[in-house]
Amino acid sequence: MAENKKALLIDITKCIGCHSCEVACKAAHELPGDPEPNLSETAFTTVQEHAGKNIRRLCMHCEEPACASACLVGALKKTSYGPVAYDKTKCIGCRYCMIACPNSVPKYEWSKLVPYVKKCDMCVNRVVQGQPTACAEACPTGATMFGGRDQLLREARRRLDNDSSYVQHIYGEREFGGTSVFFISDVPFENLGFTVAPAEEPLPQLTQAALGEVPTVVLVGGSLLAGLYWITQRRREVALAEAAEKASRKEERN
Ligand code: SF4
Ligand code: SF4
Ligand code: SF4
Repeated sequence: MAENKKALLIDITKCIGCHSCEVACKAAHELPGDPEPNLSETAFTTVQEHAGKNIRRLCMHCEEPACASACLVGALKKTSYGPVAYDKTKCIGCRYCMIACPNSVPKYEWSKLVPYVKKCDMCVNRVVQGQPTACAEACPTGATMFGGRDQLLREARRRLDNDSSYVQHIYGEREFGGTSVFFISDVPFENLGFTVAPAEEPLPQLTQAALGEVPTVVLVGGSLLAGLYWITQRRREVALAEAAEKASRKEERN
């Protein structure tokens, strides 16, 4: 039976830097523009050059995501399929997820009147229907592979065992408490701009320890503020919609 929990395996030795993954991601998510040098609200993945290698950047889809644990309203959630998904209807725009993520992945739509958080969603809508992610489907060399999490870990280990030119490390297997995106490479990860995790324990445990130092009144106040912010934001959305409707009615009359 096919494994329910999915993942990506990115083999840096096979990446030719063609950017097809970025183009496919933009098309699948209706994001504007050409490939971009850095992650942004319109680029959920990017291919950067480090030490002569092409390195994909994207959300790691952590097993115990710090972004989700920092979110007061549960807008970010690890799904049983693997992707860390985002529910914009719950988001209050506090941006704690952006601070909590060790990889600076979530971005904010600063230029929009009603902004939301943007990041790779591991093509959750495709994955739940049994399809691969758009980036894996588009990759011409198999450098990005989609599959069951355990199956991909086995494949990564098989390649490391059979070829001594690989660094004997599967990045993402233990980092951040384990993730759903794995990298293998023939150059040490610290030379390729990867985040060197301070500990292999899940980051939420560290953030919870820090939160434990915060007085309850601050946390309750935080939730209250979050609620007020949500109401204010939704009022603003309604006001904007009303203004747009009034303007269009006026245009129709003239
Ligand atoms: S990499 Fe960052 S945004 Fe992605 S799941 Fe982990 S903590 Fe969240
Ligand atoms: S998994 Fe989907 S959203 Fe993430 S980088 Fe690949 S195509 Fe983009
Ligand atoms: S599509 Fe594949 S080979 Fe091309 S840049 Fe992306 S990961 Fe590398």
